[in-house]
Order: sequence, then C-alpha cells, then structure tokens
Amino acid sequence: MTKITNHLPTAELQAIDAAHHMHPFSQNDGFQRKGARIITRADGVMLTDSDGESIIDGMAGLWCVNIGYGRKELADVAARQMQELPYYNTFFQTSHVPAIALAARIAELAPGDLNHVFFAGSGSEANDTNIRMVRHYWALKGKPEKSVIISRKNGYHGSSMGSGSLGGMAPMHAQGGMPIPDIAHIDQPYWYGEGGDMTPEDFGLARARQLEAKILEIGVDRVAAFIGEPVQGAGGVIIPPSTYWPEIQRICDHYGILLIADEVITGFGRTGQWFGSQTYGIRPHIMTIAKGLSSGYAPIGASVVCDEVAATIAQDEFNHGYTYSGHPVAAAVALENLRIMEEEGVVDHVRDVAGPHLAKRWHALADHPLVGETSLIGMMGSLALTPGTGARGRFAAAPGTAGFIVRERCFANNVIVRHVYDRMVVSPPLVMTPDQIDMMIDRLTTALDEAHAQMR
Ligand code: PLP
Repeated sequence: MTKITNHLPTAELQAIDAAHHMHPFSQNDGFQRKGARIITRADGVMLTDSDGESIIDGMAGLWCVNIGYGRKELADVAARQMQELPYYNTFFQTSHVPAIALAARIAELAPGDLNHVFFAGSGSEANDTNIRMVRHYWALKGKPEKSVIISRKNGYHGSSMGSGSLGGMAPMHAQGGMPIPDIAHIDQPYWYGEGGDMTPEDFGLARARQLEAKILEIGVDRVAAFIGEPVQGAGGVIIPPSTYWPEIQRICDHYGILLIADEVITGFGRTGQWFGSQTYGIRPHIMTIAKGLSSGYAPIGASVVCDEVAATIAQDEFNHGYTYSGHPVAAAVALENLRIMEEEGVVDHVRDVAGPHLAKRWHALADHPLVGETSLIGMMGSLALTPGTGARGRFAAAPGTAGFIVRERCFANNVIVRHVYDRMVVSPPLVMTPDQIDMMIDRLTTALDEAHAQMR
C-alpha cells in the first residue's frame, strides 16, 4: 500500500479520504464529488493546505484553538508527560498529579463556589455527565422524580445520545431516536430571527418566561435543571437580549432548579472574561467546559460543580466515569495552556485589544448590501445575510443556500468563516492581532462582494 504522507498529491489524498474516512456533520458522498480541503500544517492563526495555500483561520479550528497553533510549550509538556506517566485512571480511589493540579487550577479560575471538577474527554461527554449528575443529585435529595432537564431549541450541547438530546438541533433529532426521555425544549432568545415587532428587551423577557411556563406545565416537582449556552455558538452565535439571563436566573432561583451553563465555547476568554457566566452575570450550579480548556491541543472536557451539588453527590458512589477522565497528557497540556493564557494576558487581549478591534471591523460590515445584522461579543460574532429586502429579508432559495455560497467564496479567498444556515459566524483564535483581524475581514469582504455579484 502507498505510504500516506503530506507529500502525496492532493487528489490522491482526497480519493483515499473519500474511500475510507467517514466525516462528522458532512454529506459523505460530497467527498467523492468534491474532495475535502486537506490541512497539513498550522502556525499562529494561519493554516496551510495540501496545495500550499495559506489560509487565515476565522474559526480557531472548531471554536477551540484559542492560543493559536504551533505552541511548542504544549508539545514539550505533552512529550514530557507521555514519558513520565502516559496514562493512569482516576477511578477507584486513585489519582495523579496532572489531574489534581488541573482540577485545582480550574477551581481557582471558575466563578462562585464552582470548586469541584469531574473530567471527561469532550464537551459531549461532560454534558452526559451533567444529565446523570443532576438526576442523581435529586435522587439523593429524596426527589428521584425530578428528572426533566429543560434546554432550548437550536441550542447545541454535543453529539452523544444524551448531549444531542439536550441540544435542540432539529436535523440531529431527525436521526437516530433523539431526544431521550425527560428532556424538554423551549424557544431560543433569537431576536433578529424570531422577535417580530417586539423590542429586544421585551423579547428577551418573553423567551426567558417560557422557562417558567414550561416548569409550571411539567410540574416543579419533576424538573431537575435548565441548561443553556451563555451565547449559542453552533446555533449561529445568537447573542441574547440583555434581559434574558437575569430573568432565567430569577426563575431558576425562584423554583429551586439547577442551572447549568454550557461554557464549552464561551469559556476561557471567548467573551472577554474568563467565562461567559461572568459576562452575563449568570450564577450556575454546574458549568460545562472543553475546547478552550486545552486550546484544542488535547481532547478534554469537564463538569465544574458547586459546593452543595458536589457535597450531595459525595454522599453516595457516583457510578459514572470515562477511561480518559482526567487523562494525564490532556490534563498536563490543559494546565500549560492555562498558564500561557494567564502569563500572556490572553483574556485582557480579548477585552482591550482584539475584541474592540474586531467589533469595529465587524459592525462596519452592516453597510454591505448582503448583510442585515451584525452581532458580536468578545471574539465571537455573526452576521445575518439578507437579499436586501429590508434588514430581516429572507432569501427565496432554501435556508442556507446563501450562507453556503458565501462560505465557498470565503474558502476561495483563503479565510475560514462558517455558515449556520444564512448566518456567517466567526470565532477566531483569541491571540489574533489587529493586523490579522484586518486580513480576515478584508478577505471576508471580498467573499461577500463576490457572493453578492454571483447571486444577482
Ligand atoms: N457544548 C457546546 C456549547 C458546544 O459548542 C459543543 C461543541 O461544539 C459541545 C458542547 C460538544 O463538545 P464536543 O464536540 O467536545 O463533544
């Protein structure tokens, strides 16, 4: 068999990829028609593909490479840890230093009394942990019937059976028997798309009050928890109206249900503070983290749990865990990532330099004839495409057609920007400099111009 390396021609790599590699969230027969773009190297905020093209990464991989690519410190730490202790588990009363140190560091960084960390290998696994943990918590409190978790339509919490059920993605629920029982969904706080004539503030309150209505409909004695992303990421970077989270917090407090903030994207600086919960004044009982925890250099996620929930769970054996919970190499890499973030002031950079510069350039795109709305917090932003028939105009073509055209033009102009139906989203590495932000937005603007010309 041919040795498969970076040196093979792109077409050959694409053919082998199409023959043997099943891709996530992809129409796999598409790879036979049009091969995958194959990324071979990356450095800083730039990717290189198998044709030698240099591409600016406006998505930080998949919302995760927050400190940028090619950080040798992380590679060195991983190599050292692999030699010292490549693997040991954290089951059955055993532990190891990387997991201990990382748990302690996360407890230091996390807001409030979120002092306890249950490790997982990903965000999906951590959210599955959350389902089991909150149900077990209520059982230990003598209320096993409190098992329903409420979340939002168009929320994203992962792709396993549990986390995919928590999420409210209709195309996912259309396959494979999701959602599992005892998950309920309310509408999302998407003012631009669904707010009609209401002010954003009134709409935010109305959408939050759906939580109250849902609790009363199901019965407070049946509801265990509410879960939400501080800002919906995969749903299209939906930034909630300012009234939304305070009202959700009030309702959770009033009815005594647990509040889970899924910070898999918003955690570790993305919104200009360490956690989105701080940006939005949310006081969660549990926080889900992954992605930026290791800047994507190693697969790791976790549930970060408050004192009272952790103390309750500690009353009994929690019959749950993953082979790779607290994996020593991933934990050591995450710890080094957090050290670099602190030493280099990455969160301050988002708040004071990169975020404000991106905001200036991003909101200026609102003048483009294809753009109906721009929104942004920290280093995550979205824009709604519009056919020019008013700010909230919808395209005659199927939803996502325009977004796909713009995304293809972005690809052609060597900038990675994703589309969620007809919203374009960015979530670049947090270390991006103003010059690099300019390069990203200039390329996106060219892509928008070309798409506009193509669609006329
Ligand atoms: N939660 C949120 C908010 C996410 O955005 C994601 C992934 O995009 C997940 C959970 C799932 O994380 P993973 O893909 O690591 O399982």
